[in-house]
Amino acid sequence: MPNALYLVDSYAKSCEAKVEKLISPVEITLSQNIFYPRGGGQPTDTGKIMRNGEIFAVTEVYKKDGEIIHKLGSSGLAVGDFVTCELDWERRYRLMRSHTGAHILSAVMGRETGALITGNQLDADKTRFDFSLENFDRALMDKVLQKANGEIAKNANVKIYSLPREEAMKIEGIVKLASALPPAISMLRIVEIEGIDTQADGGTHVKNTSEIGRLELIKMENKGAQNRRIQFRLVP
Ligand SMILES: [Zn+2]
Repeated sequence: MPNALYLVDSYAKSCEAKVEKLISPVEITLSQNIFYPRGGGQPTDTGKIMRNGEIFAVTEVYKKDGEIIHKLGSSGLAVGDFVTCELDWERRYRLMRSHTGAHILSAVMGRETGALITGNQLDADKTRFDFSLENFDRALMDKVLQKANGEIAKNANVKIYSLPREEAMKIEGIVKLASALPPAISMLRIVEIEGIDTQADGGTHVKNTSEIGRLELIKMENKGAQNRRIQFRLVP
């Protein structure tokens, strides 16, 4: 992705940028990108773009044909405009905490039950996991959540780095989501929660698990013979 600052520094809350292209009057690309474009189970960032005090709401950000497109609440920006971008940081930070928490939970789930996550969706107020598992009772899920919270409490550092694809694919469990094989690129972005989990991942994460808080089970659902779904949230 071109100048994807969110991949390098997930704590960047604002940046200066230039409007590069108008896809439509309310869809633009920028020279620098701090807004996370929805993908990999992590929803879009929102926020605002400012030009000389004039505010344009950023309602949705997505990737298309190798570009990061910002959908705006109103038209008026032009190619070449210098703007200031600002994230809705409260929302993004919560998604970062949820995302790192979700990696820990999926690692513990795999270890404790052997279940492989088949789908996941983060949201600002909850996270959903789909997986296949025969034994699906409350006691087992409570135990998985409890163990995940135990891992979170270790205050582990989260490291982000690149590895050649071949080398990365040798790491056990590098791809947790059954359907989400990393793209056919030579270098993979790795998210390592030290001592807990290592995954190929394009999302935004916290620097240390102490920032996450605690995971709490909201609900358990049967979606078919062995298809299970849980929803959980962050506390606080
Ligand atoms: Zn992830």
